[in-house]
Amino acid sequence: MTTPGPRITALAGGIGGARFLRGLLTHLAAAYPDGAGSSTAEVTVIGNTGDDIWMHGVKVCPDLDTVMYTLGGGINEDQGWGRLDETYTVKAELAAYGAAPDWFGLGDRDLATHLVRTRMLTAGVPLSEVTARLCERWNPGVRLIPMSDQRVETHVLVDDPTGALTDDGSPVHTAIHFQEWWVRYRASLPAHGFVLMGLDEARPAPGVLESIRDADIVVLPPSNPVVSIGTILSVPGIREAMRSTSAPVVGLAPIIATAPVRGMADACLAAIGVETSPTAVAAHYGARSSGGILDGWLIDTVDAESVDCTEALGITTVAVPLLMTDLPATAAMAAAALDLADRVKARP
Ligand code: GDP
Ligand code: CA
Repeated sequence: MTTPGPRITALAGGIGGARFLRGLLTHLAAAYPDGAGSSTAEVTVIGNTGDDIWMHGVKVCPDLDTVMYTLGGGINEDQGWGRLDETYTVKAELAAYGAAPDWFGLGDRDLATHLVRTRMLTAGVPLSEVTARLCERWNPGVRLIPMSDQRVETHVLVDDPTGALTDDGSPVHTAIHFQEWWVRYRASLPAHGFVLMGLDEARPAPGVLESIRDADIVVLPPSNPVVSIGTILSVPGIREAMRSTSAPVVGLAPIIATAPVRGMADACLAAIGVETSPTAVAAHYGARSSGGILDGWLIDTVDAESVDCTEALGITTVAVPLLMTDLPATAAMAAAALDLADRVKARP
């Protein structure tokens, strides 16, 4: 006899999302075994595509690919993105032609994914279907859906990197693609804000709103609250679906003490005027009881003294270890998130 598992929907960026999801699948396989090494739970992942970029004639979807490769066993573990056993012959050859951009780590194996994707996209196949086809190879164990089939790209407002000044001597603001800011400049150019190009024309991809509405639990992994989760929530209709689902919505803090665990989320938070702390991120998401999207929030044990602050916002908060040091630790985080969802649900 197998126990039917829950339907879980997660919103995910790249590394933080993918690693958490791997722990979630491990926990589910133990808690709701299907007798064949997997689980009876159904996990749907809504992936961020705001980081997507066209370069050298191909469409690159870094966050979708990080989730797909991580769950499919093809990720470069040390790096957290890109393919295992990667080589960079094409990148070197492009550089020999002086072909820009030269700052993006376009690997040879990875390029095959982009070529297959681009060929389907140019034949008119929507990104959500293309992603499903790519996943047939990788069997990630989740249903991976891009947030939108339309092109939405995050751009960052920065002081012009050439040092150009306006007539009154203040720096000229320029919008550069998120990847250029993140990868080329390592988020070192102070950002004045983010612009989501194409957002007005974007709609949630097929299945996105339904997966939020019909879920038993909605989870926000410890992904970047601004340029991963924030971007997904900006697609018209998604925030409203999060607000109105009957499922409990629980999140995990990507910030421990006063710093992101990895990457430059602090630079993103600063750009939108949010302090780098687990409490400030929870306040930024807001409680569902007061117009926000969260019912429950997990913070790290080192931040235990701020449980009361988030509780005061109307968000049920629990402190547990939140470092994804290995798979068992990550599975324990996922178990804690599902326990918290049960607790929130049981509340009168
Ligand atoms: P990206 O698209 O590759 O940047 O990945 P995500 O947006 O999914 O996740 C990035 C976030 O994951 C960063 O803000 C990190 O602080 C967070 N993160 C990475 N590793 C850990 C971890 O072990 N624990 C927690 N709590 N957060 C983590
Ligand atoms: Ca990303």
